[in-house]
Amino acid sequence: MPGTAQWPLKGSRQATLLARLDIHRPEEIILHLPLRYEDETRITPIGLAQVGTSAQIEAEVLSTEVTRPHRQLLARLRDEAGSEIVARWINFYPSLQKQLTSGRWVRLFGEMRGGFFGVEMVHPRLRFVGKDEPLPRTLTPIYPTTAGLGQPTLRRLLDFALETVPLDEPLPTTIRKRLELPGFSEAIHALHRAAPDDVQMLDEHEHPAWWRVKFEELLVQQLSLRRAYNARRAHEAVRLPPCRTLTRALSERLPFALTLAQQRVMNEIASDLAAPHPMQRLLQGDVGSGKTIVAAFAMLQAAENGWQAALMAPTEILAEQHYRKLATWLDPLGIGIAWLSGGRRKREREAELARLHSGECLLAVGTHALIETSVDLPRLALAVVDEQHRFGVRQRLALRDKGAAGARPHMLMMSATPIPRTLAMTHYADLDVSTLDELPPDRTPVHTRLASTARRTEIIHRLKAACLAGQQAYWVCPLIEESEALQLKTALETWETLKEALPELRVGLIHGRLKAEEKTATMAAFATGELHVLVATTVIEVGVDVPRASLMVIEHAERFGLAQLHQLRGRVGRGTTQSSCVLLYEPPLSRTARARLKVVFEHSDGFAIAREDLRIRGPGEFIGARQSGLPMLRYADLERDAALIEPAREVAGELLANDPGAVEKLLTRWLGGRERLLRA
Ligand code: ADP
Ligand code: MG
Repeated sequence: MPGTAQWPLKGSRQATLLARLDIHRPEEIILHLPLRYEDETRITPIGLAQVGTSAQIEAEVLSTEVTRPHRQLLARLRDEAGSEIVARWINFYPSLQKQLTSGRWVRLFGEMRGGFFGVEMVHPRLRFVGKDEPLPRTLTPIYPTTAGLGQPTLRRLLDFALETVPLDEPLPTTIRKRLELPGFSEAIHALHRAAPDDVQMLDEHEHPAWWRVKFEELLVQQLSLRRAYNARRAHEAVRLPPCRTLTRALSERLPFALTLAQQRVMNEIASDLAAPHPMQRLLQGDVGSGKTIVAAFAMLQAAENGWQAALMAPTEILAEQHYRKLATWLDPLGIGIAWLSGGRRKREREAELARLHSGECLLAVGTHALIETSVDLPRLALAVVDEQHRFGVRQRLALRDKGAAGARPHMLMMSATPIPRTLAMTHYADLDVSTLDELPPDRTPVHTRLASTARRTEIIHRLKAACLAGQQAYWVCPLIEESEALQLKTALETWETLKEALPELRVGLIHGRLKAEEKTATMAAFATGELHVLVATTVIEVGVDVPRASLMVIEHAERFGLAQLHQLRGRVGRGTTQSSCVLLYEPPLSRTARARLKVVFEHSDGFAIAREDLRIRGPGEFIGARQSGLPMLRYADLERDAALIEPAREVAGELLANDPGAVEKLLTRWLGGRERLLRA
């Protein structure tokens, strides 16, 4: 009954139930859209209703009975055309039987079934009606709900909201015309009060009303991300103009020529650093594309100006490797680097902290150890986060907050997990993105093979021959997500087996539980060629760079994610020798597992793999909740509605530039003023 409904009082049972759906105000229920619809606008004669479909019938009660020993309520009914039907209830209140007196007219909605008693409906929706009672003119919406909150209640609350909430139009007519989108009010009414003819387009979310809602949702996502970007940009940062003395010296000393992509990205970063507001740039580049040297140049630009720069990496192995690499590049230029990691001895650590605190040392490399409170970087002007997806929002913020007083450091985030363009547009809309889309020319693509575990012995023989001929190999142990202890046990067993099978070779073992010095020693022994084979868990997944290693065997490859396999495989193929990677799998493979391994087998380009991965898994899982500080999308689907993303981005730009009122209206409507924490 429109007009009589009220919004439930705060603290009432109904308000509590609504809060479970994240609905607190009438404005919010407006955007609580139907999952599907039921068509009660028509009466189907019983004789014409098809078994297996849902229908509404109108009939007169003939008789009722309660069966035994299985207590069920049966009602026999007949419609105007004289066809009969049985309605059956397995759970019912005794009052129901009393109400179903013979001669009463009812409307039943439910699925038609062929039953023991002829056509029947089990637990149909029931409504008593007077003779010639008019039919509803719109489809009956079925909303997502929670236990205790019925559809009729939701419908009543929507009646109230649709009557009282002004459905203002934030989009200028020109934009709506250009995109051929209906008005907001029109779209909202079309969804909550849907016309019977539209049912199929509505169910498939292809109705123009759905397009409007999905577009608006994507637009709001762009607006809130761009706003976060602008807010961060409004801070001050230390200007670090390129001086080109040290950077030129480094270019001249490099044993390789920079790729064009590296030069382009370095220029982008160099000009960001010269600006008086903080850089917020993501550097994407496939495994092996040479991101570290790009970071080194950026850090050097800070040092040239007399400011500090820090590089944070997610694992000890990686941090140490970065430290060594930076040291070979920068030591000859007289630039010292401090190295901080959880594994360093107290005395060494304190000496490093003192050098950083005094500003004597301008560059720091480390793990999470960099963000501990004892670390003082008084002149920090640039923070680089390698493999940024491995860090949480808070850790990235903690590094940022180490910035020199009164200014925010420039931030460079690096990632080897390339993501497809449409996803990047939504996911990284609050960052500037640079992409290394070119590998150094000396790379030979890794030869990938799939082999069943039945061929393990044969693979070991081949590996032996290759190592005796001077190559080096990684043997990656199976991933056991459920149990770290089991994973360790498997790694130890694999190590033992390989040592036994390969007595002529030196086989090392590396895993997460080793002490830092042990890891360092093992990695060093492998890097210098002292070890032929390195048995490893996924600790080697990110960033490890030993150019001489050219063979990799991954056991139980079917257990790994595609991005992970691509990362792992990226550990080989870094030198000039032909490298190969064997993906060992345990048969039988499920169809999806086979499809996924095939993707890694067929593609060597990380972007292509990511695209396929996205196709197989869908975007939600692809990104993973941990990475995203984004408001979840309720209606738009990044894959299906990809065509709406680019326009949403353009319109966001236009509105931010010309129409702050519309921006406010949109953000309030969708986020209710509670813009969530956005990423660092
Ligand atoms: P990633 O992008 O995966 O972090 P790295 O920075 O570790 O890649 O670089 C991979 C390897 O390529 C390193 O050994 C690095 O020194 C080398 N490298 C980087 N740039 C070039 C280049 N332009 N030419 C040849 N080798 C390069
Ligand atoms: Mg790297």
